[in-house]
This record gives sequence, C-alpha cells and structure tokens, in this order.
Amino acid sequence: MLGLMQEWPLLCHKVIDHAGLYHGEREVVSRSVEGPIHRTNYRMLRQRSLQFSKRLEIEGVGIGDRIATMAWNTWRHVEAWYGITGVGAIYHTLNPRLFPQQIAWIMNDAEDRMLFVDLTFLPIVEAIAPLVPSLEKVVILCDGSAMPETTLANAVAYEAWLAEADSDYRWKEVDERTAAGMCYTSGTTGEPKGVVYSHRSNVLHSMVALQPDMMGLSSRDSIMPVVPLFHANGWSLAFAAPMAGARMVLPGPGMDGKSIYEMLKNERVTVTAAVPTIWLMLLQHLEKDGGDLPDLKRVVIGGAAAPRSIIAAFKDRYNVDVLHAWGMTEMSPLGTICSLKPEYDALEGEARLDVLSKQGHPPFTVEMTVTDDAGNAQPWDGKTFGRLKVRGPAVSSSYYKGRGAEQFHNGNWFDTGDVAHMDEHGYMQITDRSKDVIKSGGEWISSIELENLAVGHPHVAEAAVIGVSHPKWDERPLLIVVPKSECEPCRDDILDFMKGKIANWWMPDDVVFVDEIPHTSTGKILKTELRQRMKDYTLP
Ligand code: ADP
Repeated sequence: MLGLMQEWPLLCHKVIDHAGLYHGEREVVSRSVEGPIHRTNYRMLRQRSLQFSKRLEIEGVGIGDRIATMAWNTWRHVEAWYGITGVGAIYHTLNPRLFPQQIAWIMNDAEDRMLFVDLTFLPIVEAIAPLVPSLEKVVILCDGSAMPETTLANAVAYEAWLAEADSDYRWKEVDERTAAGMCYTSGTTGEPKGVVYSHRSNVLHSMVALQPDMMGLSSRDSIMPVVPLFHANGWSLAFAAPMAGARMVLPGPGMDGKSIYEMLKNERVTVTAAVPTIWLMLLQHLEKDGGDLPDLKRVVIGGAAAPRSIIAAFKDRYNVDVLHAWGMTEMSPLGTICSLKPEYDALEGEARLDVLSKQGHPPFTVEMTVTDDAGNAQPWDGKTFGRLKVRGPAVSSSYYKGRGAEQFHNGNWFDTGDVAHMDEHGYMQITDRSKDVIKSGGEWISSIELENLAVGHPHVAEAAVIGVSHPKWDERPLLIVVPKSECEPCRDDILDFMKGKIANWWMPDDVVFVDEIPHTSTGKILKTELRQRMKDYTLP
C-alpha cells in the first residue's frame, strides 16, 4: 500500500515561491558590479525570476537546455538561477578564474546555448565565444545605459532583454529528478568532470544545510555567501537562505578583506561562508586597520582545511564561532559540519579547539565510511585513517557523460579521493587529499596538519607543505612560507614553534620563503604547481 500523501515535487522554484510569498519583504542586498549597493527583497526577486523564465521561453529555451552563468554573487545571478530552473533548463555556473581554453572546453562539453555574464568577465567571453559554436546569445548583466562596446555578435543588455517579458508566468512542473544545475570540478587532475544536480537533490540538500546543527539559518539571520555561486553549487546558499527566509547579503565583486569587512559590518551580517583564504585576508585586514564584528555569530569555513589559528582568532578576538565544514562539488556540496554535540560540552580551551578543528559530523542524508585499499571498513577510533567514501540523495551517482566511473563503487559509494579518520562520536577528520599526503618511510604525514600549525606562527601569512623526494625516506615534508609583510622571517624560529606540537619525524626538513603561493580557481593551495616550482629543490 502506498501512503496517501499529495505528490508535491521538490522543485527549486518552489523555494523562491516560499520566500516571495511568506518572507516577501526580507531584503536581498548586493554590492553591484557597477559599484553601488543594490537593495531588493524576495517578493521582487520572485517576480523577476518569473519574468526571467518567461523571457527564456521566448528565446525557445526549455527543459534540459544548458544555460551558462559567469557572474559574481548578486541578486541578478540568483534570479537567473531561479529563472533558468523555472523553465526546466539547467544553470551551468562557469568559474571565470579557469584558463579561457578550459572554460571553452567546459562550455562545449555542456553545449551551453546562452551565457549570462557580468561586465567584469566580458573580455574572457569575447575571447572564447568564437570557440563555442553552441552559444547563441550572450546577455550582459547590466542595464542598457551600462552596456559596453563589444566584439560579440549577439550580445544584449540584461535589463533591456528582461523587460521584453512580463512576470505573468507559471513555472514548468517537471519531475523532481530533472536536472537543475551543472558545475564542473576544477580539473586539477585530468579533464574537468561535470556534476549534474537535480531539483530534488538541491531542495533536499538545502533543507539539510539550514538545520541548527549545520549552518543553523533562520528568518532572523542575515547570511552573506562569500563563496561564489560558481564554486561547488554556491554551497547551496542561494536555495537554503530563501528557504529559511533569511536576509541575503551578496558581496558582488568585492572579495578583498576591506570590502568583505564593510559588508559584514554595515549590513549587520550574522552568518557568512567561504574558503579559508578569504578569512585569512579578512583577519589580516582587521589586524592592520582595526574593526569589530558585533553582529556576526558564525563563519562557515570549508573547501580546504580551516587552520586552528583562524578558529581561535575568530573566537578570541571577535567572539565569532567557526563552523568548520567539509564537502565536495559532487556532494552538492555539504558532507560534514563541525558543530559541537552535547558529548563535547565539558571541553574547554585547547581540547575544545582540537574538536573544532575536525571537519565534523555528517547530517542526515550523508552516509560515510572509511576503508582500507581493499575496501574493508576501518574502526572509528579517531586515528585509523583510510579512503573516505560517501553516499546520499545529494551525492553524484555518476559524472556527466559517464566520466570518472572508477570513483563510483558498489551500492553507489562515491570515493572522495580524501584520506580521513572517524572518531567514536562520528566526527570525521581529513588527513589529506590522497594525492597530497607525504609518504615518508612507508608512513603517511598529513600536509594539512603541518600547514595549519605553521600559519599559527605570528610571522606567517600563508603556508603550504609538499613532499620532496628523499633517497632514504622516499619523501620528506618541505614547508613553504609566505611571510607577513613587515616581518623578518626566521627559519629556525618557525621550526622551533612547531617542535613538540607534532611527532618529531613529521617535522619539515626545511623552510623555503616565497612571495606568493599559487592557488586554484577556487582559492585553494595549488599543490601541483608548487611541486612543479620546487622540482629542482634539494633538501639540505
Ligand atoms: P575542487 O576539487 O575543484 O577544489 P571541490 O571544492 O569540490 O572542488 O573540492 C573538494 C575537496 O576539497 C575535497 O575532496 C577535499 O579534498 C577538499 N576540502 C573541502 N573542504 C575541506 C576541509 N574542510 N578540510 C580539508 N579539505 C577540504
């Protein structure tokens, strides 16, 4: 017997319906690409999304069409997502920080029909458009008066384009398993792979992400997603925030420490989310120019390991809780968040920080296992590590066009490529990406742990650790440091600082000072490039 409940498909645009109807006056604030702060609300955003869908239909766009966006986080980008999913088409976020040839490759793979682009990225699009034959039209996210000169044959200004339709539209009712969004992995190892989200996975994932033990969003919050919408499904915040009726603050192109601080402070943001490099920049800005964050309650840090020193600095100096999160593009992206369960209530000081530095526990809908290479589950003892595998309704079942099939195992376990251990309370800690662990004398050294320790030194702005070959031990750790400006860095001082906090045989064999560390398109340390730069280095 089936249950006698209504069929109510979990569709993305139902989220903006909810926000527009029941939280209609809640503000959506953006730093616009043109400069000024722009204010709207969920009622207006819903209306413009409906108008967007109607206008797309006039273009002949429908179910399954891929529509690309290359844009900062602004209200226009958010309404584009809802407008695209509203006709049953697929938003395909492009990361403008990739090489232009790589973007063209991705667009051709996805066969994008239209592209919505911010003024900032127009030169990139002008260079690649001739390489993408499927691209019929480029819509520049500005109003008519800001429309620039362009070499693009078929380009229009967004506001003029949108005005050619009204908002009298009914969303397409599609099956909830229909594709809604697309995001390619960065392709640092091999060609990029397309991850395809469904309406159902987006809605379920957002319901999970906003729970109290996860990001804890409510209609009383002002959330600022600093993480770009083009990074890993924008951590689903474009859905989770309106679903909770939370006020949304969007940083637009202002991604430096000063601009982020201005938005946090002036717009009284209570929750925010981004990768560690953003928070390093903010904290350095605050250290230099001063400031306080009286309204901010929580910072979600994910995408790369959050150094212990960042977690401590937010709490001790600004009374802000860090929620360390782990996830992947393939997981929509949330896998774990490190909120404290009651089991840890009694912990204080360093012991509390030890737990907060872990990547955390999975929500309902994410299942995890850690196995050895033969696939045997490892004990949850907080130290035995192995390959981390996951499954759930918002985890990829395969990549677009069946690529990377070797990562999908029996029963749909997805092999994350991360090495991790679990403790008895279900808290997971990442040791490394499997390709970044340092193999010394048959044992593994966690590059992440060394990096996080080194950035705790007061003269270190950023640190990276890679393995360099060693005749006896196979590999040994090399610490690469960007010193803080105005500091005179000292190799031995940094090593002394690390001594005693890790096993002796984990100590880096040497420290190299550099002006900058290369980053991936999503702001993580680019180890492949670092290893390349250091290939001629020999240990002392
Ligand atoms: P990309 O591979 O393009 O950077 P993702 O953002 O999907 O794309 O990267 C996911 C990977 O980032 C994870 O598999 C993991 O290695 C790393 N990662 C994400 N969050 C954390 C974290 N909190 N700590 C350590 N590593 C993390």
